[in-house]
Amino acid sequence: MPLLDTLNRPLRDLRISVTDRCNFRCVYCMPKEIFGPEYQFLPRDKVLTFEEITRLARLFASVGVKKIRLTGGEPLVRKDLPELVAMLSHIPDMELTMTTNGSLLPRFASQLKKAGLKRLTVSLDSLDNEIFKAMNDVDFPVEKVLEGMDAAKAAGLEPIKVNMVVKRGVNEQSILPMARFFREKGFILRFIEYMDVGQTNGWRTNDVVSAKEIISMLNTEMPLEPADPNYRGEVAERWRYKDGSGEVGVIASVTQAFCRDCNRSRLSAEGQLYTCLFAVKGHDFRDLLRNGASDADILQKIETVWGKRADRYSEIRSENTIPLPKVEMSHIGG
Ligand code: SAM
Ligand code: SF4
Ligand code: SF4
Repeated sequence: MPLLDTLNRPLRDLRISVTDRCNFRCVYCMPKEIFGPEYQFLPRDKVLTFEEITRLARLFASVGVKKIRLTGGEPLVRKDLPELVAMLSHIPDMELTMTTNGSLLPRFASQLKKAGLKRLTVSLDSLDNEIFKAMNDVDFPVEKVLEGMDAAKAAGLEPIKVNMVVKRGVNEQSILPMARFFREKGFILRFIEYMDVGQTNGWRTNDVVSAKEIISMLNTEMPLEPADPNYRGEVAERWRYKDGSGEVGVIASVTQAFCRDCNRSRLSAEGQLYTCLFAVKGHDFRDLLRNGASDADILQKIETVWGKRADRYSEIRSENTIPLPKVEMSHIGG
């Protein structure tokens, strides 16, 4: 029996943030003014060890979690990450995947595949170097991310998905070139509405380019038709190119809330469990892990936290919710 929350949503999906650090400073996620040299990232001893993460992951699997996504910060800046992948890959019937900015994939792709990673999502917001560098804010070139994707493909980490956050006035002009390029390459591109996660990115409603607008822009050049979801609770709305040349997705978490089917929880690098991307507060599991709690104690806490869950932030988003003290995206991994 899966665990159900107060709205009857099962717990199926766990995102594990393995670090709060990143080698990028994306303007919509970790703006440099806040995440500068003075920023206090988590000290090493506060971050869950691979053994602690694996223990929790097994317990989550035992109550119905079917999918684990490693994320961050940038997951590949965590030392020896393939070792964690190898440890998690032993959990039976678990779909193990990762979201990365792709910068370190040329170095790690084949180790990750060998360790048992199943699939990969790579984030890229433009093919235009001027735009991309302005968005990652560390002068990182597009070519290196593409190299990372090619390394992942060569290692057999397919199908590769590509995440593109669209911010008005910043990269809308990259929508069509990105779609053309990834259709040709056979990767599934997903456009993400810019979200009001955290408190540091200065989000404004006007910055959001809606999924509807994105689809109609694509449709003028590359006719699309809606495709059925792969499973209930799928976050991306799927669209197929009418000529059979592939598909794209849109993640419309601002303009078309999908809380009704949200089955996802997020574990931060220091062991706080968040039941919503927009949560103000997490639930501490590190304390339990480090103070001799039994598996039964930990399971009890998972059940209690999920059993009380009533989150539906995107459905109730308003001018009043925007300034709430929400957790940062780089802390819980999107
Ligand atoms: N560093 C990795 C990466 O960028 O892929 C993993 C962590 S990142 C927080 C996970 C995803 O969240 C990325 O695809 C990123 O583009 C997306 N993201 C970050 N901030 C966002 C925001 N404000 N709105 C929408 N998506 C965002
Ligand atoms: Fe780093 Fe990913 Fe956030 Fe960009 S979106 S700053 S790559 S964590
Ligand atoms: Fe799930 Fe919260 Fe996003 Fe709604 S706002 S879909 S409850 S994470």
